[in-house]
Amino acid sequence: MFFKLQNNDVEIDSKFEYWVCGRRRFEVCQWSTGGDKKRANKQYMPAQELLLQRFNEFGMKIETIALVKGKKQSQPYEDVLEIDLASLDGLQDPRALRIQISKLTKDVDRDTLKAGGNPTRKVLFGIKWPGEGKLLDDDVRNALGFSPVAYSANETKYSPLGVYLASVQTDIVSLSLEEIGEMVGELPKSAASPQFWANAQGFHWSRRRHWLSNGFEAFWNSKEQKVRFVRNNLPTDDATLFKARVEFERKRLKAQGKGLDEPPSGRARPTIVKSVIFRYQRSPAIVAWVLEKATGHCEACSKEGPFISEKDERYLEVHHLRPLAEGGPDTIDNAVALCPDCHRELHFGIEREMKRDGLLKKVDRLIDHPFRDRG
Ligand SMILES: [Zn+2]
Ligand SMILES: [Zn+2]
Repeated sequence: MFFKLQNNDVEIDSKFEYWVCGRRRFEVCQWSTGGDKKRANKQYMPAQELLLQRFNEFGMKIETIALVKGKKQSQPYEDVLEIDLASLDGLQDPRALRIQISKLTKDVDRDTLKAGGNPTRKVLFGIKWPGEGKLLDDDVRNALGFSPVAYSANETKYSPLGVYLASVQTDIVSLSLEEIGEMVGELPKSAASPQFWANAQGFHWSRRRHWLSNGFEAFWNSKEQKVRFVRNNLPTDDATLFKARVEFERKRLKAQGKGLDEPPSGRARPTIVKSVIFRYQRSPAIVAWVLEKATGHCEACSKEGPFISEKDERYLEVHHLRPLAEGGPDTIDNAVALCPDCHRELHFGIEREMKRDGLLKKVDRLIDHPFRDRG
């Protein structure tokens, strides 16, 4: 998720990410402008100056400044060059500091600038939070005046393809990359691969949702060098796909007046498929520790687990507050023991965000780990 700064209700065109990384510490990364003049982040410099000014106003101490080199575009950044703060003067003067950072950035650009490569100007600030108590994600957002960026260009890129598929009457549509490119703009080289179109388990959801939400599944056909969009009324074992299909079918039932009077026939003998599933490996030691610590009581509602399990103890489930698939760590500061009701509510409840915040406040060891894109 990305954020932009607001100044007197005017949004400044420069992209930030931030994350809490300790009880009273957070990091802010300002994204690069990139080489192309047409790109976003046009107000990189005024935005940086405003950010530095806000650090000052709120007494947030800059503990580290680092430049992110290389082309890797998502957290955690690998090629990071930390600046010696002692070499800078006027840490308290936003403009002077911005100019010095800008000079250092240009030197980094010279290192990494190859033919066709973009100069990189990502800057990473490590900040000490001035307030008392445990720092939450929203505290940073509210203090700095960050507002979330609705959808990045990447997330809306494939919407014309979705619009096209919504209008199609047949069950199978084959499109060449050129044809798709005409709708959505230039495609990356990796588009000529099965992985790009199939991507398992919700990776690249921003892309997939455009055909899934219109009832299609996409396959790369290497013989034809085309993408086949197949209407997806078949059974599936892919959880993400399954959920999307259920929602699609419900929409269809509601749209057809007689929907419920003509129940689907289903299958007396469901087929079994062998499938490859990507799973995050979880540590049994973490689950064990969290369960022992909870002593049979849900850490959200404090009630005892609802029944005695086969193991002759109160039944609880261990939940990751920031799911591993969203970049959360498999550590005790990200795991809680919950009763099934609280657990399901945290996943599917309309007030799950509030419930999550409540847990963060209630259970002292928990940290609000940020979303990190692992796609
Ligand atoms: Zn509970
Ligand atoms: Zn869970």
